[in-house]
Amino acid sequence: MPTPDPEPLVVYGPANLDYDFGLGHPFTPRRFGPGIDLLRELGANPDAFAPPEPVPDDVLATVHTAPFLGSIHRLSEYPELAAHEAVTDGDTPPFYGMDQAAASVVGGTVGAMERILAGERTHAFHPGGGLHHAFPGRATGFCVFNDLAIAIRRARDEGHRVLYLDVDAHHGDGVESIFWNDPMVQTVSFHESGLSLFPGTGWVEDCGGHDARGSAVNIPLELGTSDGSWLEAIELVAPVVAAAFRPTLLVTQNGCDSHALDPLANLHISTRAMSRVARLFDELAHRHTGGRWLATGGGGYDVYRVVPRAWALVWLAQAHREVPGSTPRRWQERWAGEAAAHHAGPPPREMLDPLGSTQAESPRIAAENRLTVSRALEHTLQVIDGY
Ligand SMILES: [Zn+2]
Ligand SMILES: [Zn+2]
Repeated sequence: MPTPDPEPLVVYGPANLDYDFGLGHPFTPRRFGPGIDLLRELGANPDAFAPPEPVPDDVLATVHTAPFLGSIHRLSEYPELAAHEAVTDGDTPPFYGMDQAAASVVGGTVGAMERILAGERTHAFHPGGGLHHAFPGRATGFCVFNDLAIAIRRARDEGHRVLYLDVDAHHGDGVESIFWNDPMVQTVSFHESGLSLFPGTGWVEDCGGHDARGSAVNIPLELGTSDGSWLEAIELVAPVVAAAFRPTLLVTQNGCDSHALDPLANLHISTRAMSRVARLFDELAHRHTGGRWLATGGGGYDVYRVVPRAWALVWLAQAHREVPGSTPRRWQERWAGEAAAHHAGPPPREMLDPLGSTQAESPRIAAENRLTVSRALEHTLQVIDGY
């Protein structure tokens, strides 16, 4: 196990709570209550927390277009003009103050990146970041500004070769498209197939633009995929791509809507598998990037049963700490009432879902996924060829 770093930086502050599409929206800031509380209970030092601050327009403009930024500012003052401005989708409804709230999400991720680039920290985690669906001129899939792409561009402009690994259940379409033609940024997305899930993209043959063949890798997995082939895909592909690409900095999107209990996607992943993946990311960072690893959250819509544990597993991997057998009893007790009030499942006792807790995948699903992985690995040969 690598030598302990100073504690990983955790980005969290009141501004994270302002990113709120309103009552009944699945991407709720309620997740920060039980999520951040679990990190603290597990030993994250509140002094190691950095609050996100909004970034100015010139930083947003490194990825987003000027007309789009103008529209978002207008919508943040007059949300009722959504149809008129036509830059947001129905799942990403404008709200008053949206521009500042979204600029703070960017500030959290970019601020963490700056600390890594300055050599102050090697590992950092922004649970409220990871808005991978935002495009230069379009807000979609709950994502207004693309904090990941803006932070990656900052690192890339300092000469870093950035490896981006995305294990959210949804295809990391925004980040992929922004760096589609950029050989300095290698994106890899493991997601539920676009046949069954938003955004409907991320096919195995999509592997980067003319000037950067192989710089995108896509692993679309079958609806109903569980731990077996999810882990097989990630544990086979991520190390091979990393070895071929030779990154100097790792960025990961650790969305946890891949979990079996998640209401929006159809993968059947356990926290046991998520923990293995977080530890693999840590290993890859120490093997290839001098430890430089910026992790974000992302999707994850089971507020009490999944999101807090998934975040905790990323933090524990970054802190090089063992995963405790159970969640702290005080944490369970503190959030049980709020979960019940929202008719949500209660905070679980186990950190790692018991073996066999998610349904086994059928031989057909396993075979389809294996074929997808082998086809994706062929594309990674282009990565090797390309560099
Ligand atoms: Zn580490
Ligand atoms: Zn997602």
